[in-house]
Amino acid sequence: MTAKKIRTRLAPSPTGDPHVGTAYQALFGYVWAKKNNGSFILRIEDTDKERSTPESERAIVDSLKWLGLEWDEGPEIGGTYGPYRQSERLEIYHEYINRLVAEGHAYPCFCSRERLAEVRNERQKAGASSGYDRKCRDIPPEEATKRVEAGEEFTVRMKVPLEGTCVFEDLLRGEIEKDWASIDDQVIMKADGFPTYHLAVVVDDHLMKISHIIRGEEWINSVPKHVLLYEFFGWEPPVFCHLPLLRNKDKSKLSKRKNPVSIDWYRKTGILPEALLNYLGMMGWHLSDDREKFSLHEMIDNFRLEDISLGGPVFDLDKLLWLNGRYIREDFSTDDLLDRLVEWGLNREHFEKILDICKGRMSCLSDWGDMTNHFFNNNISLSKDELLIKNRDETEICEILQMILWELEKLDRFTKESIYLLFKEFSEKLDIKLKYLTQPLYIAISGKAVSTPLFDTMEILGSDISRMRIRSAMEELGNLSGKKLKKLEKKYNSLFADI
Ligand code: GLU
Repeated sequence: MTAKKIRTRLAPSPTGDPHVGTAYQALFGYVWAKKNNGSFILRIEDTDKERSTPESERAIVDSLKWLGLEWDEGPEIGGTYGPYRQSERLEIYHEYINRLVAEGHAYPCFCSRERLAEVRNERQKAGASSGYDRKCRDIPPEEATKRVEAGEEFTVRMKVPLEGTCVFEDLLRGEIEKDWASIDDQVIMKADGFPTYHLAVVVDDHLMKISHIIRGEEWINSVPKHVLLYEFFGWEPPVFCHLPLLRNKDKSKLSKRKNPVSIDWYRKTGILPEALLNYLGMMGWHLSDDREKFSLHEMIDNFRLEDISLGGPVFDLDKLLWLNGRYIREDFSTDDLLDRLVEWGLNREHFEKILDICKGRMSCLSDWGDMTNHFFNNNISLSKDELLIKNRDETEICEILQMILWELEKLDRFTKESIYLLFKEFSEKLDIKLKYLTQPLYIAISGKAVSTPLFDTMEILGSDISRMRIRSAMEELGNLSGKKLKKLEKKYNSLFADI
């Protein structure tokens, strides 16, 4: 018998900026495939029509290329099992959804959103562990078909067993059990005809002959539904290997509220891709001699999935910077480093964007240095006094900055227009003149009271760098205590609930 070919995949959803956790999953999937002369596949999971954007897909593709984690099959290059973008595979999913319905494993559900929300509420109050009362599960199939044919809106749900336990194997954790009673009849096709993640991921992993699903721990709870679908279809599931979650220093799940999480931030800050990969490789795995600096090739040569340890790996920015420094000092000639600097930011394209917004204030060419240093320097020096708007103390400014941060986190597109609108709305809601509101922001973002136009500057710097700078300014002002933060969150939620 020939051994099964090792095929791993990365299946990101193109919503928002590519996350460092995506790079982490990509690295381990890539390394495992390469170690076994297998294939690493990139599949774009864009079944969420509202949130998926081509910009985000572009950014994912770019960051994987920047990291050097090139795929053997996927967008741009195709492959035997394409297309590799889920929105282009709708017919395939429909075939499988129809099969499930015909075989009695799934059923059309005609419940309206309003009814579902009501039922969920009631059941939550009553302490039920699942949210849907399965009203449509017992509609006779002929009647359901008639209603579908008459044009009634419907979703399709899978029939989850009402009792018993689902048992499945995770390569790192061994057997995992979950009671079926705690799992809803999951929607597998939405009213717009698009499949949900659960259906699409199972169909695709099977059809693309994925041997190992290597992804973050946050997906473990979805596995029972997936295992059930494999069973309905009569397919053998791949090996499940859920990587431990990356954590902030305080051990909470790595989040943009506490750490930069977009790959773009690391790139723009000047982290070298080889250092980032090396550092991510240390998250839950190490070389047998405990050496901290190792190349991708060394990782591939020495890697075994079963050696991954589950203790929550802490993503420590200072440690990454230390490692990055070692790469710069130990691995680069001046010439090579110059190439990297040019690639990073000392290039025409980047200069052009910046020059566009500062030439109006230049009187001689050497003004460039002082005027633009905040684009090339990550350690902005801040003065507490300059951060204060008149009549407001440190806490009040911190509160304003914090609310702006929360608002910025919600922005899907970080453009000068959207940032401007956000500030305008914010100034109206809080009744603070825009010019006062932007004053501490100028200082936080550029370190200067007079600088390049704020919203353009933020767009060029990007969301993560801008937010990180605002966070540094809050630290300079003494930050908010946990208690104040909680109170503020309430105020914020009531003020901005509708935006
Ligand atoms: N599309 C999912 C995501 O956004 C993929 C999860 C998986 O790897 O199965 O991460």
